[in-house]
Amino acid sequence: MIKVVCFDLDGTLLPMDQGRFIKGYIEALAAKVASVTPAQPFINALLEATAAMVMQPEAGRKNEERFWRQFYRRLPLPENVLKPLIDEFYRQDFDRLQKETCTAAAAAQAVKAVKEAGRTAVLATNPLFPRLAVEKRVAWAGIAIEEFSHITTYESEYYCKPDVRYYQDVLARQNVLPEECLMVGNDVEEDLVAGTIGVQTVLVTDCLINAKGLPEKADHKVELQQLPALLQDLLR
Ligand SMILES: [Mg+2]
Repeated sequence: MIKVVCFDLDGTLLPMDQGRFIKGYIEALAAKVASVTPAQPFINALLEATAAMVMQPEAGRKNEERFWRQFYRRLPLPENVLKPLIDEFYRQDFDRLQKETCTAAAAAQAVKAVKEAGRTAVLATNPLFPRLAVEKRVAWAGIAIEEFSHITTYESEYYCKPDVRYYQDVLARQNVLPEECLMVGNDVEEDLVAGTIGVQTVLVTDCLINAKGLPEKADHKVELQQLPALLQDLLR
């Protein structure tokens, strides 16, 4: 029996062109910190530190710690000049990026279907972002954050997608076996990799990402519009 349903956010519950969103995001963040660093070295450090955070996990060190260590190694700025600007960016400026995304009623309905079936919903978004940036995107998706028993952010996790240890940590935290979990996502590599450890998978095709042209090995394949009915059916 499925006890826990994990939802990806970007391109799954929150329809978007991820390439455009990330581009706008990086440009807006670089503009915010322009008083302390030129844009290009900042963007390079940000991208390289993000790649290192994804590819080089270290036992016992969370994503946030590893990201900033990698970042400052590339762009040695005093922490007290950059961090306040970045915190302010998420509080005041981030909402302007909402225009790069859409709200779909089916997203909230899908999460509601999980709750109505008496199961647990987890927001399994790739934990590259601070919690506030995730909370804001959940709000843009028209979903109350309280609907999720856990949301994965860079403060809470040790691994990133597509590392299967990310999914193993999610399962361990919910105290469920892989076959008791369903992962719903739009990225053939990052989300469907959960299937390799025995998690059931749903591929949401509206904003499908398949950067490496991998086979689409999912237990179910639907448009977001069809997701609430599929979940009602699977959780019956
Ligand atoms: Mg996604």
